[in-house]
Amino acid sequence: MSSLTPPSQDAAITTAPYADRLRRAQEEMARQGIDLLVVGASADLLYLIGYEGHESERMSVLALPRDGVPHYVVPGLEAPLLHEQHDLLQIVPWEEVEDPAAKVAAVAGAAALGSIAVGDELWSVFTLRLQRAMPRARWAEGGQLLRPLRMIKDEREIALLAEAARRTDDSWEEFLTIPLAGLTEWEARDRLMGLLAARGLQPVFCNVGSGPNGASPHQTASDRVIGPGDAVVCDWGGTLDGYNSDVTRTVHVGEPSPEFVRAYDAVLAANQAALEAVRPGVPCQEIDRAARRVLTDAGYGDAFIHRTGHGLGLSLHEEPYLVEGNNLPLAEGMVFSDEPGIYFPGQFGIRIEDTVVCTAGGGRRLNEATRELRVMG
Ligand code: ZN
Ligand code: ZN
Ligand code: ZN
Repeated sequence: MSSLTPPSQDAAITTAPYADRLRRAQEEMARQGIDLLVVGASADLLYLIGYEGHESERMSVLALPRDGVPHYVVPGLEAPLLHEQHDLLQIVPWEEVEDPAAKVAAVAGAAALGSIAVGDELWSVFTLRLQRAMPRARWAEGGQLLRPLRMIKDEREIALLAEAARRTDDSWEEFLTIPLAGLTEWEARDRLMGLLAARGLQPVFCNVGSGPNGASPHQTASDRVIGPGDAVVCDWGGTLDGYNSDVTRTVHVGEPSPEFVRAYDAVLAANQAALEAVRPGVPCQEIDRAARRVLTDAGYGDAFIHRTGHGLGLSLHEEPYLVEGNNLPLAEGMVFSDEPGIYFPGQFGIRIEDTVVCTAGGGRRLNEATRELRVMG
């Protein structure tokens, strides 16, 4: 067991759930033989202490020992931002002329001779400086350590993800009431992001791919004017208290061809098949296989060029990944996307994406924005 004791005992309300998360991270460190965890500005940091950090050239890191109190080594000018974390952490400010890596080495103590894990999103330049300051340490990936924690969402996290999803669905219902033809992809993107902001979400991204642009799954938007005959793939999301939404819907401007309708129905069936495969204990790759089987049987196997889904939470893409080769069993509280898609270069793309939570009884969608094919003006 770990021996983390917050510096002050009267801070139970402000430090929940972070004291508990730090303690569980320490337990995982003990299990994995890690002596020190170093995390910079990132979703990992937000998860552990409720502060997402300030990314800059000045090193600002949490140093969590396997036993004892965590330290936060922070530029003096940034220290006031950590006022809510005072009861959780020992704040170690450094002045402009000091070497922060040496300060981390000092708080590391004996751990500098042991195993040190660095957060996956810590800048490589900081890792290199820490390695020079602690040349005898063995280094490991912090992702291994935090994945088992972050992957399983608690009730509050699921409630936030559900509310973010609900508001994102709501932005779509309003988006559908206005004709798309004549707008550029950038204009459609701005409109959808504005609808997210109007619902109190922090817009994070919005990709609009019309016609042939929809065949490129990660294109953002372009000056292309949307017109009759276009399939339009919209993939967008925002955050609520740091928790992400991520939805994709595909609409058609003007009457679609029978070929398009057939392809759309196949993607819709694949999305449904993946949802129905979700159950605690089922390996992640089985969800991918369930969606892929439907599309392969319909003759679209080669057009399904990406995995079926990714976990989401404080990061837009995080564990677990629903991909062939991932044998990790699903567990209650995991939240991930269900997003089969098919792409025909030079023509169009179709993707339908929902956020799904794994419950004891199976998969539960957090998104309910209409999945039926919508024909727009
Ligand atoms: Zn993606
Ligand atoms: Zn998406
Ligand atoms: Zn996604």
